[in-house]
Amino acid sequence: MKTLETIILEIDPFNIEEEKIKEAAKAICENKTVVFPTETVYGLGANGLSEQAVKKIFIAKGRPFDNPLILHIANIKSFLEYAYVSYSLLEKIEKLIPGPVTFVLKKKKIVPDIVTAGKDTVAIRMPAHPIASKLIEYSGVPIAAPSANISGKPSATLAEHVIQDMKDKVDYIIVGGKVEFGIESTVIDLTTGEKPVLLRPGPIPPQKIAEIFGDIEIPDFAYGHVEADYIKAPGMKYRHYSPDTPVVLIEHQVNEKMIYKVIEEYKKYSNPIILCLREHCNFYKENNMNCDIIGSEDNYYEFAIKLFEMLRKYDGQSEIIIVEGIEDKGIGIAVMNRLRKAAHKIIQ
Ligand code: AMP
Ligand code: MG
Repeated sequence: MKTLETIILEIDPFNIEEEKIKEAAKAICENKTVVFPTETVYGLGANGLSEQAVKKIFIAKGRPFDNPLILHIANIKSFLEYAYVSYSLLEKIEKLIPGPVTFVLKKKKIVPDIVTAGKDTVAIRMPAHPIASKLIEYSGVPIAAPSANISGKPSATLAEHVIQDMKDKVDYIIVGGKVEFGIESTVIDLTTGEKPVLLRPGPIPPQKIAEIFGDIEIPDFAYGHVEADYIKAPGMKYRHYSPDTPVVLIEHQVNEKMIYKVIEEYKKYSNPIILCLREHCNFYKENNMNCDIIGSEDNYYEFAIKLFEMLRKYDGQSEIIIVEGIEDKGIGIAVMNRLRKAAHKIIQ
């Protein structure tokens, strides 16, 4: 494939240079591809109303065409332009936006089939990140964007990740610092007519959605158990978030005996790394195992922000990456969803 020469724009999210954002917005209008930071992970965007532009996203990522994209918007009115949504539903949506949450709704005709993988529903999100928000606003079109990583690899949470994965595959990369959450948005299906269904857990926990919508259904697949029923969320059937180095996941609250078993089994590997909770680090060190702290029992947000960064950091550096899991509560359900999908082996 012919490679592009990517233009890199450095933009400080706290002091945005208008000229640079305008240049990137112009590129979107010209149906070019632009990588940009959001509060969840970096996104790979293009004009969401142009089939030709959106096609470039799939090609740059190597993403299968049956995995739909999220349409990013800059104001609440856009929900009405691209989807069928009642005012009472919109009032509830309003309580959660802008932010790291995506709503699946019945689509309007104006949204090209390539965005929704031919489905009659569309996923819409209004990001809170100032760069993302201005880019969409100045473009004057919705921006279709999946995560800016090579398909199947961990999402990109740092500028160096997007440069590694996307340089010379896209027209522009906006380098705009570290993201806030480190995992992709919560996806909720609002098309069932009854209670909302959690399609993908993310930074906004299910309890928060239930508070606003009255209830929420959490299907088994939302926990990341891979043999699930994918009908509603087509993207879920693909292997996700995986570094090349195999990942072994230890489910939450394994006992000491179990940890000894893990140590015995994996210490024969050359240079294994354990990504563990702060509380357990000394234990591994005393047993001569390499470990790195990924979070702690009382801060699951730290775990989320470090997750993809750590998987990328140790990819190719060790023969095996062992990760200690956390409880499926709050943002923990989102972290475990990603880990169960990334894992080559799960120890319970
Ligand atoms: P990514 O942009 O990589 O975070 O992927 C977007 C994800 O949003 C997809 O993999 C789907 O799981 C979900 N999604 C997007 N559009 C739809 C839709 N119309 N129906 C259900 N899920 C969707
Ligand atoms: Mg993705």
